Amino acid sequence: MSIQKVALITGGGRGIGAATARLFAKQGYAVAINYKSNSEAANKLAETITADGGKCIVIQADVSFEEDVIRMFSTVDKVLGRLSVLVNNAGILKKQSRLEDMTADRINAILVNNVTSYFLCCREAVKRMSTRHGGLGGVIVNVSSRAARSGSPNEYIDYAASKGAIDTLTKGLSLEVAAEGIRVNCVRPGLIYTDMHADGGEPERVERLKTVIPLQRGGQPEEVAEAIYWLASDKSSFSTGNFLDITGGL
Ligand code: NAP
Repeated sequence: MSIQKVALITGGGRGIGAATARLFAKQGYAVAINYKSNSEAANKLAETITADGGKCIVIQADVSFEEDVIRMFSTVDKVLGRLSVLVNNAGILKKQSRLEDMTADRINAILVNNVTSYFLCCREAVKRMSTRHGGLGGVIVNVSSRAARSGSPNEYIDYAASKGAIDTLTKGLSLEVAAEGIRVNCVRPGLIYTDMHADGGEPERVERLKTVIPLQRGGQPEEVAEAIYWLASDKSSFSTGNFLDITGGL
């Protein structure tokens, strides 16, 4: 009997992370769903997955805190076993604003939530997956954004820059661990229907902008999840340090 693979999805309670957790569970993975504060959404998702015959656990952890990240990974070790896949997905954005109006507190909050968190989770994953540390290899998929390339002027350059850092993290780490059994890839979604746009102060942002998208519509979280799943699967076995844009052509 083959051993069930284990995937950890940060920010897995809502949006793209939740769609990803559902897909991995459906494909037979044991899934660790991380969330920060919305326990209701994460627990409801876990109930649905379990009702459909999937295996999952829910872990509260603020991935911008080192102690929380360490606790989260050791919980996965103890409860689910050897980690095969890390999906770094948890992210935030703040209200739309020009750079002149951004405070240091705001910029730092974006960077610690969207960048430090990915570094810390990658560190813990590499310690477990790398053949250098006695591991059996694994896959990391980072969720960046189209914003890394557009720069998000007049909306949130801080968020866009945090995603630029994730692109660089993906490239550097993929090369650092390529000979140690670990592949590191990245998806860059465009405009996707999730709660995140409300956090930016414009819940209907995707509707407003959808006509500029060549496919003439916003994307669904499930469409991003499929790309994440492919990059995590053996079907993408020759891809590392690569980027998959899921933008409807934008
Ligand atoms: P979302 O619906 O707002 O969900 C964000 C998730 O991240 C939530 O589950 C949230 O937890 C979690 N989270 C945030 N900060 C966290 C922290 N410090 N520790 C642990 N969990 C944390 O957002 P989404 O649109 O699905 O975004 C997912 C990823 O896709 C993000 O990296 C985002 O930048 C990227 N992305 C989104 C779009 C888009 O159009 N939606 C486009 C490009 C890229 P709680 O549920 O507990 O609050």
